[in-house]
Amino acid sequence: MIIEQSGLEKILGKYAGRRREALLPVLWDVQTAFGHIDEYAVRQISYTLRVPEADIFGVIGFYTLFHNKPTGEKIIRVCTSPTCAVFEADHTIGQFEKHLQVQCGHTSANGEYTLEKTECLGLCDHAPAVLVSEQEKGETLYGDVADAVHFLQHPEDFAYKNNADAHPNVLLDDDAPAADGYTALETILQSKTPDDVIAEIESAGLIGRGGAAFPTGMKWKFTRRAEGDPKYVVCNADESEPGTFKDRLLMESYPHLLLEGMAIAGYAIGAEKGYLFIRGEYPKPTDVLLQAYAEAVAAGSLGDNIMGSDFSFHIDIRRGAGAYICGEETALFEAIEGKRGFPRIKPPYPTTHGLFGKPTVVNNVETLCNVPHIIDKGADWFRAYGTDESTGTKLVSVSGHVQNPSTYEIEPGITLRELLENRCGGLIGELQAVLMGGAAGTFITPNEIDVALTFETLRAAGSTFGSGAIMVFNHTVDLRDVLKSLGHFFQHESCGKCFPCQLGTQRQAEILERINAPIEGDTVRLTDIGLTMKEASICGLGQTASMAVMSAMEKFPHLFEK
Ligand code: SF4
Repeated sequence: MIIEQSGLEKILGKYAGRRREALLPVLWDVQTAFGHIDEYAVRQISYTLRVPEADIFGVIGFYTLFHNKPTGEKIIRVCTSPTCAVFEADHTIGQFEKHLQVQCGHTSANGEYTLEKTECLGLCDHAPAVLVSEQEKGETLYGDVADAVHFLQHPEDFAYKNNADAHPNVLLDDDAPAADGYTALETILQSKTPDDVIAEIESAGLIGRGGAAFPTGMKWKFTRRAEGDPKYVVCNADESEPGTFKDRLLMESYPHLLLEGMAIAGYAIGAEKGYLFIRGEYPKPTDVLLQAYAEAVAAGSLGDNIMGSDFSFHIDIRRGAGAYICGEETALFEAIEGKRGFPRIKPPYPTTHGLFGKPTVVNNVETLCNVPHIIDKGADWFRAYGTDESTGTKLVSVSGHVQNPSTYEIEPGITLRELLENRCGGLIGELQAVLMGGAAGTFITPNEIDVALTFETLRAAGSTFGSGAIMVFNHTVDLRDVLKSLGHFFQHESCGKCFPCQLGTQRQAEILERINAPIEGDTVRLTDIGLTMKEASICGLGQTASMAVMSAMEKFPHLFEK
């Protein structure tokens, strides 16, 4: 579609007076309206936001969901990350190619379709997954589209629905707040100081659920004590780790729980503004959250002078645009600030120098959703679940060869075997390997599945909950294909800021690409590259990009032999 002046002016009019921090929202609005963002649009955006044109092109080029050239009217992106790859993603792509008369990576002659491969879409429980971007409509996420021909005629048949299995029902209970029922927030506004709130969260032993497993109360305390004003709460909803989709469920089904958790965090650290940064591949949760936020403000549960108190809290819901690295907290700040998502060097840490250089708390979706329950029911109630070091319950995303791939709420302490054989309805075929924690995780063999699922036992076993991803592969899977997929993933997602990761992920992917016909010394090369990335990379992406490969070399050495 041609970008015409009046339509563009209408969009930019909404952003008059704003500056660079509005860049991603503007780009989304322009792209949704016109399908791409051309040079003319970039010039006009540059005038409006006072951002150099070169910087805007740099941002467009950084995020995979933005386009600076016309594409097909519909962009069909097929996920090829491990679980979808195992469930016939390539076959699906072949079907699309045949029926749309288009080669993958290209646009059809009639200009109707562009077909692309993409990394994990967070719909692994409905593999294979597809994301469709349409001009004027935006993004829609579909699952179970192995039959691409049928999908083209009846996309409505492929809408996914969230499913979950909660036991015990702690986080995923039916008491989730409604827009006018933020009871935990009401309690603290009436009777608790910020220090009381932090003490309660510390006493509950709540550990961050995003992967780093940092104690939440301690993080809040550091930020509360930090000098600097204003302070911010940032919710990291950029759930992009392959195999992870639990936060999608929380945001779609319990949006008020999350928004209330953010407001409580704001009260505790002394912030009146929160940013919720959600991955661009999650259109439905985004809509649900926007609607929930509007309802909560209308009900007086969020916004100015909440429930008649002198505490105000506003939330800006921001869409990412397809960059795994933005799950790294400082890269996420850069994205909110309207820049490419390059991680910052730490220290200083976000608790003192975070978003816009101010003290900032960054918490994962699941972490924040636990907060209202802890305030409502007390730290002792929370500690009654799990173990001393893994308190409360934990959500895990199970995908691959189990009867019921889904989000599971588990009580830490149950074994992986119990989860797979009982909760998940049993295995499909004979178990070959489990990849714990996502692409940056480690493999578990069939002999090791009696490991207890707690932060501490997994750590002692050299594994991790990570993002909560549990990918199950049976005897039919060639694990070399999984490793190739992981190698490609990290090569694609490395932001390129530091050499160890930029070059290391490329070399790692090249060596894994020839894993079926390795050359002498490849395992030594992979080890060298892995250790170098781990020791010398700036951020967690590079530091963990070789974890799964190193783990596979240890657990499945035959994969690397000729
Ligand atoms: Fe970028 Fe990788 Fe370096 Fe992180 S480790 S800053 S992702 S190049």
